[in-house]
Amino acid sequence: MSFLQQAFAPIEAIAERVGLDPFVLARLRHPERVLDVHFPLVRDDGTKEILRGYRVQWSSARGPYKGGIRFHPQVDMDEVGALAFLMALKCAVVGIPYGGGKGGVAIHPKQYSDAEQERVIRGYAKAIADGIGPTKDIPAPDVATNPRLMDAFASAYAEVIGHAEPAVVTGKTLAAGGSEGRGRATAQGGFYVLQQVLEARHMDPESRTAVVQGFGNAGQTMAEILFHHGFSITAVSDSKGGIRHQAGLDIPALVAYKETHGSVIGFPGAEPISQEELLATPCGVLVPAALERQITVENAEQIRAQMILELANGPTTAEADVMLAKQGIPVIPDILANSGGVAVSFFEWEQNRVGEHWTAAEVDGRLHALLKEATRDVLATAEELGMTYREAAYAVALRRIGQAMK
Ligand code: GLU
Repeated sequence: MSFLQQAFAPIEAIAERVGLDPFVLARLRHPERVLDVHFPLVRDDGTKEILRGYRVQWSSARGPYKGGIRFHPQVDMDEVGALAFLMALKCAVVGIPYGGGKGGVAIHPKQYSDAEQERVIRGYAKAIADGIGPTKDIPAPDVATNPRLMDAFASAYAEVIGHAEPAVVTGKTLAAGGSEGRGRATAQGGFYVLQQVLEARHMDPESRTAVVQGFGNAGQTMAEILFHHGFSITAVSDSKGGIRHQAGLDIPALVAYKETHGSVIGFPGAEPISQEELLATPCGVLVPAALERQITVENAEQIRAQMILELANGPTTAEADVMLAKQGIPVIPDILANSGGVAVSFFEWEQNRVGEHWTAAEVDGRLHALLKEATRDVLATAEELGMTYREAAYAVALRRIGQAMK
């Protein structure tokens, strides 16, 4: 199955359960529009390259397209399409007035200097400029992109249209109109969702150990938040491999170590482990926070976590998802668990549109309230229809998208 087929797999059965109009499902099966662009890049040494980028605009039923831009060598139409579709569901679950979109540039970010990456995002922004806008399609950061690159995106867009329009992109730095709390929003939101689910399941706080796959923005911040709340983080990994320390890793020291060494690998006192060993490490909560399709039929049976919190998009394949359900391991799905990022993107967009700047406490209060409601809706639907959390989140989203389409 392709990633898009994976993301779509649960949908038919759920659509039937919630009595979704077959026409809504037919409409959701394909993207509304796809931008497939090529643009030039001048490297630092003066050589030139042609790069390929995508922007998939999946659904605008609930509002303008919304979703991040990733830099990754495996970026292609299937990946960006699946992620755009998931964004449409995510925005519906968390109840913000957006549809779903996603973008990407097929490059290996580590092979490009910071200045080159800035020129990449500028070239990409100009290439898609006529297809986006603050009430049309609003990009944001995703894998390997960051606030500095979002500022460059906004600046390139302003050059094209002839005036500043900060609401065209979210996840900017504070200086360029970004929101307080956006950087940590994905992890912070995930933590709020986790807390509520743990409460609802009366889960034993003694089992509060966690394993985190991925140490980028979402994974690292999540490890810090969990550590701060007394969780013992026994294993983490990044793209270079994993490390484990049964007694619990000193997360602040690990963050400082990664800053100087560029990876978690070699952290003193921890044993090196593979990604497979990381996933098989017994723990209370397993947090996949890297890329899609990490938990598969090959490793699902080895998982010894009491619960999975999907901070990455699409980390569990459809087949593995069924296996986990049979094994009795609840999965808090991506479209709920990582929706805090796009929620604070929405707050940033709102602030830009009215020219306000909200305090960190205000942003956090709104994030908490929004996610409380979304989690409550998913838990109630799971209970009402006897579904897994993923099925329930899809059900909530499909009902809302269906109503909007009507
Ligand atoms: N890339 C993030 C996601 O997958 C955030 C998207 C946004 O803020 O628009 O949810």
